[in-house]
Amino acid sequence: MVNYIGVTDILRIVDDMGVGVFIEQLAGEIESDYRQWSEFEKSARLASHSPLGVIELMPTSNGKLYSFKYVNGHPKNTAAGLLTVTAFGVLADVVTGYPLLLSELTVTTAMRTAATSALAARYLARPDSRVMALIGNGAQSEFQAIAFHHMLGIRELRIFDIDPSASAKLEQNLRSMREMRDLRVVRVASSAAACQGADIVTTVTADKRNAVILTPPMITPGMHINAVGGDCPGKTELHGDVLRMKNLRVIVEYEPQSRIEGEIQQMPADYPVTEFARIVSGAAGGRAGRDEITVFDSVGFALEDYSALRFLHNLTTREPAGARQIDLVPELDDPKDLYGGTLSARIRPGLRKSA
Ligand code: NAD
Repeated sequence: MVNYIGVTDILRIVDDMGVGVFIEQLAGEIESDYRQWSEFEKSARLASHSPLGVIELMPTSNGKLYSFKYVNGHPKNTAAGLLTVTAFGVLADVVTGYPLLLSELTVTTAMRTAATSALAARYLARPDSRVMALIGNGAQSEFQAIAFHHMLGIRELRIFDIDPSASAKLEQNLRSMREMRDLRVVRVASSAAACQGADIVTTVTADKRNAVILTPPMITPGMHINAVGGDCPGKTELHGDVLRMKNLRVIVEYEPQSRIEGEIQQMPADYPVTEFARIVSGAAGGRAGRDEITVFDSVGFALEDYSALRFLHNLTTREPAGARQIDLVPELDDPKDLYGGTLSARIRPGLRKSA
């Protein structure tokens, strides 16, 4: 039997722990896996593009466990009442090749993305950052807000979305959370207004084009930019001139994938970037000074989903009642007799009937 985590299971797990605690613990797992960077098989994800979206497969392995995620990105879905991003994934044992866990990853992707964003900001943002702009107030936005409040101590959130109902939804959701009571939420009328006075700017918009959410006049010395929404060829959020600003450094997850999908797809192939794993291991420095502008050019990397699946697997196998299980793989007395152990038992009555 294979362990299974569906949407109802993830809600129960997160409810038991508290979403802020879950995200922070997951960030710890992601950080520890980034420390083992050299142990992981790495490849840019396999993307199938269509006019309205993309479907991607994201595999990785550290030689002991293997994982992959199926994820889509369809920005026009919300108009039809569907999510922009849905996902599920598998964790498998490398020795036998057997799947260990099949899990929902839609809610989990939002938490792992927020965990990775806040983790990167711990290394890159000014430690006294208290004000964050949150531009794009859709499905991912609450999770980003919770992660930055819980892990970075953000006290004021300046929110903007071209869809006012998305901002109203975000504000209402945040106000209804007990653990977010001391977060001040300010709705503003533009991206530029959101950036005013912000220490950190998170962009998490969805549009399948080279959008211009941030331009150089919105950026001030010492800002940390957490650019989450630009994650596909032809889908970016920063004006190219932002990336050309002085005293600005770009941090990416896995450089070969980010060159294709990140904000840096707008830049020449030799545009300098730092891989996040080098910062986590100490091979490269974090923030260089109070005035440095840092950009976490997030696209989402397979290792973060591996961490999430491993974390969930460990959590659920520790539960007293154990994880839910599904019969994804046949269990046979004789592994060479797949037919006898499966189909023949079902086919015999049919044969008798027609005899
Ligand atoms: P969503 O469709 O639920 O929300 C996106 C929001 O962006 C919408 O409310 C929309 O009105 C708003 N928006 C679009 N253009 C805007 C603009 N010009 N200014 C302000 N707001 C604008 O999508 P979501 O699930 O929240 O995902 C947001 C983005 O994050 C997507 O592009 C998705 O692909 C990306 N994403 C990245 C990662 C990662 O690891 N980097 C992970 C998950 C999702």
